[in-house]
Amino acid sequence: MAKKTEEIKSEGQLLSEKLCFDIKNCWDTAAAKDIKDAEKFAEDYKIFLNRGKTEREFVAAALELLKKKGFIDIETILDKGSKGERLKPGARVYQNIRGKSLVFAVIGKAPASGGVNILGAHVDSPRIDLKTNPLYENTGFALFDTHYYGGIKHYQWTTIPLALHGVVIGRDGKRRDVCIGEDEGDPVFTVTDLLPHLAREQMQKKASEFIDGEELDVLAGSRPYQDKKAKDRVKLNLLNILYEKYGIVEEDFAGAEFELVPAHQARDLGLDRSMIGAYGHDDRCCAYAALYAVLDIVSETEPPKKTAVCILTDKEEVGSMGNTGAQSRVFENFIAYLCLKTEAPYSEIALRRALEGSSMLSADVNAAYDPNFDSVYDKKTASYFGKGLVLSKYTGRGGKFGGSEANAEFCQKVQSILNKHRVRWQYGNLGKVDQGGGGTIAQHVANLGVDVLDCGVPVLSMHSPFEVISKIDLYVTYKGYGAFLRDA
Ligand code: MN
Ligand code: MN
Repeated sequence: MAKKTEEIKSEGQLLSEKLCFDIKNCWDTAAAKDIKDAEKFAEDYKIFLNRGKTEREFVAAALELLKKKGFIDIETILDKGSKGERLKPGARVYQNIRGKSLVFAVIGKAPASGGVNILGAHVDSPRIDLKTNPLYENTGFALFDTHYYGGIKHYQWTTIPLALHGVVIGRDGKRRDVCIGEDEGDPVFTVTDLLPHLAREQMQKKASEFIDGEELDVLAGSRPYQDKKAKDRVKLNLLNILYEKYGIVEEDFAGAEFELVPAHQARDLGLDRSMIGAYGHDDRCCAYAALYAVLDIVSETEPPKKTAVCILTDKEEVGSMGNTGAQSRVFENFIAYLCLKTEAPYSEIALRRALEGSSMLSADVNAAYDPNFDSVYDKKTASYFGKGLVLSKYTGRGGKFGGSEANAEFCQKVQSILNKHRVRWQYGNLGKVDQGGGGTIAQHVANLGVDVLDCGVPVLSMHSPFEVISKIDLYVTYKGYGAFLRDA
């Protein structure tokens, strides 16, 4: 049988192959085995995402995995300073930062003062928090007064089922975990909206105004407590239900952390099941990919060349402030602990050298090109579904203000590693110049002297109750993070 003759390429075609950056669709380029693995990875991710709908829940689920894989709490070996137990290559440690952030590492063969490789993602997502005195009664309804968390379009959070997740420390000092609305038989909550018939005035308002922040109060009950002598009986009835189930009294709300999140589960999206629709992809898809990239390092026979570190932080959506956010010294402290336990003797200079010599991928999502909203994107630098890992050289808004920019040397280093490992990557800048912008944790870690590049999964409908990602991009991102930890 005659062999099919290959088409002869013209000189121009060959030149184009040599010079032009050809961003291909990963569904086309991936091997059948990789596609199968990507589908399995997506299945497990959905389960994890349904378990980890708040920063605390995500950290708890990640901790459980780490402990199973032999990670130990670094605080248990800090007591004896540099004299106590030493961490040898291959050792695994974590630090649980108030249950809301998590740092962990696999010790490498090279000393930490020569620099470590870091993956940094955030595990908080936009949502609706309860105020400190939230429960009130009005015209036979009981409602929760709220204050939204992070950058949301208020109107998107009305008329959807919401679940209440909370942590309450009672007067007895005991912690009570509340979760209402996730089980099939649970009741849910909702923010109501006006019927169109009465919304003529509302519909004239700007989208940023027609549901005001104070109008995001949540419908919580309507049935009075059965004692007509009592006051505010609907509210009283709810307090009684909470007391009976969780032992909570009204005063406990003052310091509690209550978060309302969409009650729906992560689902396959599209007839071809190529995508996942869920609450909280930003930034738990990158956090999940980073977590598993580190766990892969653990299962290798050899310890990594450099220490592999992963930080999963809280409070990114409100500026990374506070003692669980990326601006906190706690993450720097963890690197100091690594130096203390691997270098002898420990010195402040060793820590500073470690930070200056370190490399980080700021693992955060990117706004994917959306065909419904063409006008806000620069198509040449936008990220697209199916095209793989997104590299964002810089963040910030008009004039690159307030962002972080990776230098040319570091960008090339990361690109080369990805190319070597055949990890498909694409550009991703946040919309047109002067059209908006944003930031990540990159700038805060870069301030410590670390080389940082933003790098993650493209997302549609970011910060909405139902964000969308592509399964293949999630998998390629996870592979890219692994390549970085091995070779940076
Ligand atoms: Mn993010
Ligand atoms: Mn975000």
